[in-house]
Amino acid sequence: MNGFRNFMVGRYGTDQLTAALFIAGMVFTFIGNAFNWYALTVITYIIFFVCIYRTMSKNILARQKENNKFLNYWNPAVRWLKKKHNILKSRKDYKYFKCPNCKQELRAPRGKGKIAVTCQKCGTKFMQKS
Ligand SMILES: [Zn+2]
Repeated sequence: MNGFRNFMVGRYGTDQLTAALFIAGMVFTFIGNAFNWYALTVITYIIFFVCIYRTMSKNILARQKENNKFLNYWNPAVRWLKKKHNILKSRKDYKYFKCPNCKQELRAPRGKGKIAVTCQKCGTKFMQKS
């Protein structure tokens, strides 16, 4: 175990990008096997090779840059998905709508009839069925 630890000293290790590539590789392997797409198998070998290369790399700065680029796309996507999930979860209790002036997303408790809404962002007042 000590030998492995010494081997990994100064190497980058795993990060979110490597984990995502690994999962993508697993999914591609599954799809490739299910449909006998050999081209996909070749792509998965490349993906797994990149995973190993990134983990063993000693150019930590370059790997961090790659990971940051990846997270720039990944984090907003996760935020968007979480937001949509929350809306889906609470749509029985809340009605979601947009401000007619600034398109800010707003919500109000359901079943209160027609209510007067003031947009928190731009201050526009409008009537909304809840
Ligand atoms: Zn507004």
